[in-house]
Amino acid sequence: ATPMSVMVGVGKAAEAGVLIRNGEALQTASKITAMILDKTGTITLGAPKVTNIHLINGSDDEDEVLQLAASLEAGSEHPLALSIVESAAERGLMPEKVENFAAISGHGVEGVVGDLSLLFGNEKLMHDKNITVDAAAVEIAQQMAAEAKTPMYFVIDGSLAAVIAVADPIKEDSISAIKRLQQNGIRVVMLTGDNRATAAAVAKKVGITEFFAEVLPEDKAKKVAELQKQNETVGMTGDGINDAPALALADVGFAIGTGTDVAIESADITLMRGSLHGLADAIAVSKATLRNIK
Ligand code: ADP
Ligand code: MG
Repeated sequence: ATPMSVMVGVGKAAEAGVLIRNGEALQTASKITAMILDKTGTITLGAPKVTNIHLINGSDDEDEVLQLAASLEAGSEHPLALSIVESAAERGLMPEKVENFAAISGHGVEGVVGDLSLLFGNEKLMHDKNITVDAAAVEIAQQMAAEAKTPMYFVIDGSLAAVIAVADPIKEDSISAIKRLQQNGIRVVMLTGDNRATAAAVAKKVGITEFFAEVLPEDKAKKVAELQKQNETVGMTGDGINDAPALALADVGFAIGTGTDVAIESADITLMRGSLHGLADAIAVSKATLRNIK
């Protein structure tokens, strides 16, 4: 490509809110055959809200449970944590001091509040910590997941106290943006650390048939490599710290402009408007640029 045509292409893309960091990425974008989309914060808004607090035997005070959960999550920066803290604040519940706090990446959080030891997270975390989750609680969580919500288990002193679910709305134009990619003949794959049932429900809503769920943060890049081994030219789109290695490994990495700095620095292209339509826009500019060269 001539430097001139690339400059024109970069300018055109910028008008559409698509910031291209290097000319090579602009040229590779037109060759993308598979696009991996992170779920939380990429397809969805990344601003989950608490929708259900289902108390389990023993606990009968919803506010008390929510206050404890919020006290624990006050130490975490995860979007799920923020939703719990906000929901408690809306009810006027003030977080208490947490000690021995630990975030367990891709699983949840633990800590001590007062004389209670607390644990909050997914099924994997319950399994790893040997917490008994009876069939009824699993069924409640599965019901929530089938509604595209993310269920989490809250444990006080080793016993399950509640199943708390949050819902993260899908960006209003994600469905049409994904359809545009598919109409370009691109294989669209969703990637998430969230549980399988929730992932399946979200994928279905946005018209994606292929997805990887329950992927640990350190394994996201492996999914990019897997598709590359299938001879795909892989685009990866994400917003989180978790996504950074995958963004760097992909043939073209796209960061959501409202995402974390680490994601933006690891990507080749930034979608300033947060909309996934920036992907098809970038690919269209890339194709036009290459046509001008020939
Ligand atoms: P994502 O790819 O959706 O950003 P993560 O890998 O960060 O997912 O987390 C995967 C799962 O681990 C979450 O869906 C949740 O069940 C659990 N989890 C992670 N962090 C927390 C937290 N701070 N509180 C409760 N659960 C958490
Ligand atoms: Mg994300």
